Amino acid sequence: MKTGQINVQTENIFPIIKKFLYSDHEIFLRELVSNAVDASQKMKVLTKLGEFKGEVGDLKVEVLLDKEAKTLTIRDNGIGMTSDEIDKYINQIAFSGAEEFVKQYEGKDGAESIIGHFGLGFYSAFMVAEKVQIQTLSRHEGSQAVQWESNGTTEYTISEIEKTGRGTDIILYITEESAEFLEKNRIQGILDKYCKFLPIPVVFGTKVEYIDSPEGEKDDDGKVKRVSVDVENQVNNVAPAWTKAPIDLKDEDYKSFYRELYPMTFDDPLFHIHLNVDYPFNLTGILYFPKIKENVEVQKNKINLYSNQVFITDSVAEIVPEFLTLLHGVIDSPDIPLNVSRSYLQSDGNVKKISSHITKKVADKLAEMFKKDRADFEAKWEDLKIFVEYGSLSDDKFALKAKEFSLVKNTDGKCFTMEEYKEQVKTIQTDKDGKTVFLYTNDVENQFGFVKAAKDRGYDVLVLDGPLVPHWISKMEQEVENSSFARVDADTLDKLIKKTDEIPSKLSKEEEEKLKPIFEGVVTKDKFKVEFESMNASEAPIIITQPEFIRRMMEQQKMGGGGGFYGAFPEIYSLVVNSNHPKVSEILNAEESVRGEKAKQLADLALLSQGLLKGEALNSFIERSIELV
Ligand code: ADP
Ligand code: MG
Repeated sequence: MKTGQINVQTENIFPIIKKFLYSDHEIFLRELVSNAVDASQKMKVLTKLGEFKGEVGDLKVEVLLDKEAKTLTIRDNGIGMTSDEIDKYINQIAFSGAEEFVKQYEGKDGAESIIGHFGLGFYSAFMVAEKVQIQTLSRHEGSQAVQWESNGTTEYTISEIEKTGRGTDIILYITEESAEFLEKNRIQGILDKYCKFLPIPVVFGTKVEYIDSPEGEKDDDGKVKRVSVDVENQVNNVAPAWTKAPIDLKDEDYKSFYRELYPMTFDDPLFHIHLNVDYPFNLTGILYFPKIKENVEVQKNKINLYSNQVFITDSVAEIVPEFLTLLHGVIDSPDIPLNVSRSYLQSDGNVKKISSHITKKVADKLAEMFKKDRADFEAKWEDLKIFVEYGSLSDDKFALKAKEFSLVKNTDGKCFTMEEYKEQVKTIQTDKDGKTVFLYTNDVENQFGFVKAAKDRGYDVLVLDGPLVPHWISKMEQEVENSSFARVDADTLDKLIKKTDEIPSKLSKEEEEKLKPIFEGVVTKDKFKVEFESMNASEAPIIITQPEFIRRMMEQQKMGGGGGFYGAFPEIYSLVVNSNHPKVSEILNAEESVRGEKAKQLADLALLSQGLLKGEALNSFIERSIELV
């Protein structure tokens, strides 16, 4: 037996390791299991290269829990280490500058990942263990098995031991305060999180499985009996879908991998993109388009980042653009620097390239789907909409590509690209100044009257709903030349699309002046501005509108952007009286005593059709109407 000093610059590195990793102690298991996997993979490589000629056997990593002895063991039958190798790889830790670095990042975001970076991986065991033993037998023929032991000071002992099987046992004597790591469920949870797709089988205890009786025993019905057997509990799938070639996978394989990733999700994804790049960086992965639900936030953080099949994080905000975080799936890249701070990640050239590559792939895939089968694409549009709009608003390059396949839908359910749509409505919806006005509704049900009036005139109405629409409209108005959007209830049709041919009014100015106070008398004065307009007699007698500008300002205020400077926007509507409607003339000619009543009824009907008649006003309208019957 010999003793020695672990070659670190400072006596205090262990306390630092323990302290600054406080929040994420569980990572020790990822480090030790991935070391064991590395050692097993190396065995494969050596065999392939012909440098190892013996029997490799079934490579596997075992995690063994002994609650009584308070130990956790990570066992592999990989390459093992000789005493010299232990000295080289374990004792001579290259800590140059590590101490400084560790101090600098103490307690900061991302500090936990320094571990792998500075070869501290193995030493992370001391976060949870008071004593660590390495028992190992090298692959070299005639090697002497050795045991290295340290109790978390810089001192270690190394001694010869009996060990027959090739490979390494890392034995952790778990501290009192880390007793959670002696719980089966806790360990299973950590393995599920970090080791689910490691390339070498990782086994943790046994599990019960039901099989047909091997002796062929029958039950009373004559069927072969099912019996329970204990089988190895393998935690990982060694060949997850993203590591395979796309040609080897069927649609069903992608779907079942999706379920493997998200066992709690019941919807199938809409479609997927298989990423496979090896230049100028290495990147593989599968991204899925989920069915995006109302609550966008809960769908985020579902992309898992792996490095060579080791789970790193599910927070990929630095690696992919914000809008892509709506996607689900896996990205695996050994080239993403995992071991540094987040702010560094954001400015890293490789990460930027990866991010723009993924954006491009996603846009290309959508364009391809659109071209290949437009009907199918249109059928999926409702689910893609938020994503494409979000992407177009937040990423200019994506926006440029998305023009090809970004769709609008009209009230008849027909889909168009903006370019097609402009062509479609140009002739009828261009005003006298040459500007094409795109009419839209965000609520077909509530704006039914307005939609119908527009369609009766031969106009087309788009359905633009969803949280991003106000922003999207502003963008389109800048992009589509000579155009503007107007919600159908923003004004009367004649004002929304101004044509030269004005309809003559049946009422004279004096008659309008006489009627105005009557209508003003039946609504809240500072909320409704009474106006007259000569429309077709067949249109409604009164239309309530809300100017596009005021509504947009109010919407922006609600979303928390802008507005503050101008103060709160009051809710203002226009009550537009159709001066050509026979009912309006009727009021003019009616007895003074009933004019108010009639005006009130017409105004209430207009409010009702807009969903603006509520509470007491609605109640008294109903009572009055019953009287009328
Ligand atoms: P890294 O894995 O980044 O090299 P670690 O601190 O995790 O750093 O491990 C240090 C070295 O110790 C490894 O590179 C490897 O040479 C050796 N090692 C650790 N665990 C094992 C193991 N289970 N089998 C063989 N060698 C190992
Ligand atoms: Mg390691």
